[in-house]
Amino acid sequence: MALTFDTVDHQPHHHASDADIAAVHANPGFGTYFTDHMVVADWTDGDGWHDGRVQPYGPFQIDPASAVLHYAQEIFEGLKAYRHEDGSVWLFRPEKNAERFARSARRLALPELPTEDFVASIEALVRADPRWVPGGPDQSLYLRPFMIANENFLGVRPAHRVLYAVIASPVGAYFTGGVRPVDIWISTDFTRAAPGGTGAAKCGGNYAASLLPQQQAYDQGCSQVLFLDGREQRWIEELGGMNMFVVTSDGRLVTPELSGSILEGVTRDSILQVARELGLEPEERRLSIDELREGVSSGRIAEVFACGTAAVVTPINRFRSTTDDLQVPGAPGRYTMEIRQQLLDIQSGRRDDSHGWMRRVL
Ligand SMILES: *Cc1c(COP(=O)(O)O)cnc(C)c1O
Repeated sequence: MALTFDTVDHQPHHHASDADIAAVHANPGFGTYFTDHMVVADWTDGDGWHDGRVQPYGPFQIDPASAVLHYAQEIFEGLKAYRHEDGSVWLFRPEKNAERFARSARRLALPELPTEDFVASIEALVRADPRWVPGGPDQSLYLRPFMIANENFLGVRPAHRVLYAVIASPVGAYFTGGVRPVDIWISTDFTRAAPGGTGAAKCGGNYAASLLPQQQAYDQGCSQVLFLDGREQRWIEELGGMNMFVVTSDGRLVTPELSGSILEGVTRDSILQVARELGLEPEERRLSIDELREGVSSGRIAEVFACGTAAVVTPINRFRSTTDDLQVPGAPGRYTMEIRQQLLDIQSGRRDDSHGWMRRVL
């Protein structure tokens, strides 16, 4: 039976004033401020999913023995709600996030949440907090669904009690300062994911493993890490939280094929679909670090960019490692900016949604 998400708001609690919200929207940052409500649902081995609800945003009480605190049985998603000029509010391909959430759940031995329940939970939260959806340029309401093992038990097996929740945060541009081409650190001593591992699942554990290399990137003045494959350290996989594309001088749009250890981005999939409209030939195949080195030096690779829901499309300016310094000439490239604009225009309702990607919530 489908879950319902009714608002359980009996106790008086603090609702932000319109002035508070306006102040947040004037400078939202990324993931700093949260809306008045959150969605919660419970799952137990015996009863399945139950008690879907929208309740005041606030801390959970978690037992110190809760399995997630010890064994990281956790998954999450990230998607956005966009306010269009006429005031309506829309989601971008939320079923794709729902399907990925179910795949992540399977890999982490968590219960699957049906697509309709996932989408209903997102819509319920947006409808509970409509004032929080910003309408400024490049602004949106970032939605963060997640699921955690919540059984108080230190034995090692999939938990019999699980919690699902969604929180929401108004956001502006992910990288401050507008579209600025970023420098990327190629990690040569760490990988993000191994064959047979959890790289294709959106789970906190992958992020935990990426933090040390990410810190090394920061220390080198770079804003993200590029990870190579875990077997040969030769094939380009992706950044810590974004997929990567190159545009060749002969009009191909190449991204690493899904290897089993790459996260299948909704943005990645959407870009592959709009490529032809922009006159680019999409190609999913293996892309080696040597091909990147040679291509950037010879000019055969004209543009490189990263993509994901949070930062949309981010041009890459330069790659560095302990032995590399590769300047991508002319970043941000023309196609990179066209692809970025095309996605932003569809999401913000400025362009016809010919793919049927947008879903109206309000
Ligand atoms: C979420 C994520 C992406 C981007 O996926 P989108 O659906 O486009 O936001 C890419 N790589 C990793 C590792 C991710 O976690």
